[in-house]
Amino acid sequence: MPLNIDNIRSQFPALSQKVYGKQLVYLDNAATTLKPLCVIDELKRYYEHENSNIHRGTHYLSQKATEAYEEARQFIAQTLNAEFPEEIIFVRGTTEGVNLVANSFARAFLQPGDEIIISAMEHHSNIVPWQMVCEDKEAILRVIPILDNGFLDLDEFKNLITPKTKLLAITHMSNAMGIINPIRDIIKIAHEKGIKVLIDGAQGIVHTPVDVRDLDCDFYCFSGHKLYAPMGIGVVYGKKSIMQLMPPYQGGGEMIKEVTFEKTTYNDLPFRFEAGTPNVSAVLGLRKALEFINSVGIDNIRSHEDQLLHDATDQLMLIPGIKIYGTHPQKAGVVSFLAEGVHPYDLGVLIDKMGVAVRTGHHCAQPLMNRFGIPGTVRASFAMYNTSQEIDVFIQAVKKAIAMLT
Ligand code: PMP
Repeated sequence: MPLNIDNIRSQFPALSQKVYGKQLVYLDNAATTLKPLCVIDELKRYYEHENSNIHRGTHYLSQKATEAYEEARQFIAQTLNAEFPEEIIFVRGTTEGVNLVANSFARAFLQPGDEIIISAMEHHSNIVPWQMVCEDKEAILRVIPILDNGFLDLDEFKNLITPKTKLLAITHMSNAMGIINPIRDIIKIAHEKGIKVLIDGAQGIVHTPVDVRDLDCDFYCFSGHKLYAPMGIGVVYGKKSIMQLMPPYQGGGEMIKEVTFEKTTYNDLPFRFEAGTPNVSAVLGLRKALEFINSVGIDNIRSHEDQLLHDATDQLMLIPGIKIYGTHPQKAGVVSFLAEGVHPYDLGVLIDKMGVAVRTGHHCAQPLMNRFGIPGTVRASFAMYNTSQEIDVFIQAVKKAIAMLT
């Protein structure tokens, strides 16, 4: 169903701003999306009416906040089709989620000589935590290469698997190219060899429905702020049967059953992994954002974004000297490119002055940039509120900037 764009745009107050006297065209959605009123209002409502610490107060506000927080967990579990609400752990974002699994699961279960597989298109947050744990545990990190069109080299993936492979950590969707990985098939291949799988869903969940039981992933991590929700909140979904065996990764309040100086016993899931006061307002905001997405329909959002992506790609390809990175058709919402003889940063700065916000640089995926032999790209990324008129403004801005820079 086509989106009611005017109605959607009216719910994102940040869109009506001008920058440098020009109407803002916000195409940096893969970095973070703008927030709808229902999310902004929820934060205000929480701080005006419910603000209190959860799980420990006997008083009215604390009980209300605890109920809302736990209901949000249940809602998110249902949205992801998780079997149990305690499979949902609230963290700061994808980065903290990956670090949780690296420091708990991998640190506890990896032996020297064991292997972890990642891919060449990973964000730094799905590379560095594994490097750190591999160094400590004397384990080995293997990398699935990608083809020139940005797609995974699936034959090489199969060749990389050995009896020592314990974990595959891979992105659902590349933030730098927009390529969507066939994670369902990859998970199946890994599971046939007894390998656990973590999916970095920071980008994937924004553009595709996620059913963790259908995917059968062992862990799925994502960030709220790329999903129209507040910053500072994210989720680790983890299978209960695995997380029950995992030791806590941070110590503090909330994650304990009983503390003495001689011995501390740990709380059950999910609290064992939620040490300290959580970001309650952001959890409630995340719920609102997911409800908002459901009300628009993730498939409707995807078709709209696909249309914008095709429009932008077609128009960019007509500009002489433009090269697009990530040309495999299985992609969503992101177009990454370079203009011949133009530094991506210069192009980004110039079009910013024309009101167009894009991202330039390595997109926290330096190994991917090295794979293509480039320092970075210009990346435009689309969300439900972007329009084809905005794509036209963006294309005109790119043309003008190239003319000024060459
Ligand atoms: N993975 C991917 C694919 C991402 O795009 C990002 C954010 N750019 C991250 C991980 C890290 O997310 P966060 O900074 O929200 O923790």
